[in-house]
Amino acid sequence: MTYVPYGRQEISQVDIDEVSAVLNSDFLTQGPAVPMFERALANFTGARYVKVTNSATSALHLACLALGLQAGDLLWTSAITFVASANCALYCGARVDFIDIDPLTLNLSIDSLESRLRAARTQGDALPKILVVVHFAGRPVDMARIAVLADEYGFKVIEDASHAIGAVYRDERIGSCKYSDITVFSFHPVKIITSGEGGAITTNSKSIAREVELLRSHGITRDSEEMSKSPDGPWYYEQLKLGFNYRMTDIQAALGASQLRKIDEFLSKREGVASRYDLMLSDLDLEIPKPFHQGGMSSAWHLYVIQIPEESELGNRNQVFERLRANGIGVNLHYIPVYRQPMYAQFGYDPSKFPESEKYYKQAISLPIFPGLTQDDQNRVVELLKAKTGHQTIF
Ligand SMILES: *Cc1c(COP(=O)(O)O)cnc(C)c1O
Repeated sequence: MTYVPYGRQEISQVDIDEVSAVLNSDFLTQGPAVPMFERALANFTGARYVKVTNSATSALHLACLALGLQAGDLLWTSAITFVASANCALYCGARVDFIDIDPLTLNLSIDSLESRLRAARTQGDALPKILVVVHFAGRPVDMARIAVLADEYGFKVIEDASHAIGAVYRDERIGSCKYSDITVFSFHPVKIITSGEGGAITTNSKSIAREVELLRSHGITRDSEEMSKSPDGPWYYEQLKLGFNYRMTDIQAALGASQLRKIDEFLSKREGVASRYDLMLSDLDLEIPKPFHQGGMSSAWHLYVIQIPEESELGNRNQVFERLRANGIGVNLHYIPVYRQPMYAQFGYDPSKFPESEKYYKQAISLPIFPGLTQDDQNRVVELLKAKTGHQTIF
């Protein structure tokens, strides 16, 4: 019985050749492959500036710093996301609060966001300095509505597009930053394209791009125009800020650029897997992802999440989950609501304030979806969903 993960990378000989070329070159890091990958990402997304990093987690940290997040500030994000979307606030000494999800899109509920903002203003409570929106599963958030609220309430917007490179909103690719200050991508192997580990920020602001560039490499400049003194000599550099080493290597950038050239194929294969699940699962006692009701939008299909209602004839969620796992299907759960994490318990969130996230957490399962998923393996997933006989191995 082969093991089928929920997501995995698709690596071809071209990718291997591109990585080998870097290994045989003069620069394993800080060479030409990084700016080449950045230019390709700028072309792809339509953003003016792109800076790559060693992960989306570090990109989120730098994005918060570049937007001035500091101790005493507040960041809001979706309750259903990977912990990194919230941790970036804690790195900066800021506080986090969560917005409940919209059961139709599984993205943060913009109605709930709006009423929380209005209530905070009325009661004189702190408003967020930054909102991190997450394009959950690859499905775009309604960014135009977010931009209106950002304007009205004066917060900055980071799009955590770790799931969503290649997704389209109002006929533009996610990452264009038309409705946000910064977009962040992840190139972890389970995501749409991979560089092993890696991330990127896209922005249309030259100053944000420069700040991110400085901070990802120790806060050091070699540009005499940015220095406080005239150079002591040709060796001279100045550290202007407390930065980090968050750089991507050229080995990773070459892989990322090679993967980006194949993204259309990856996206259409993911879409194909999703439509096939839609067809095969439509008669079963479970919920499949809701269709879009707006034109000009497409999902990157990072995840295919089904929900098992409490009284489903397929068994309860845990039984279905365990049945699939026991038969070699690496189903997963994206995500445990972040406020439920022990790390976050100290901040005293009340789960009853997030009814949709709580309901989702009781019902969700992420099924395997990735470009190389075979029809046979997908059929096996569907047969196991249908088999109501508990833990029995049927293959
Ligand atoms: C994967 C992921 C991240 C973190 O990405 P890394 O590149 O692994 O640091 C952040 N946010 C979301 C929503 C993710 O899915």
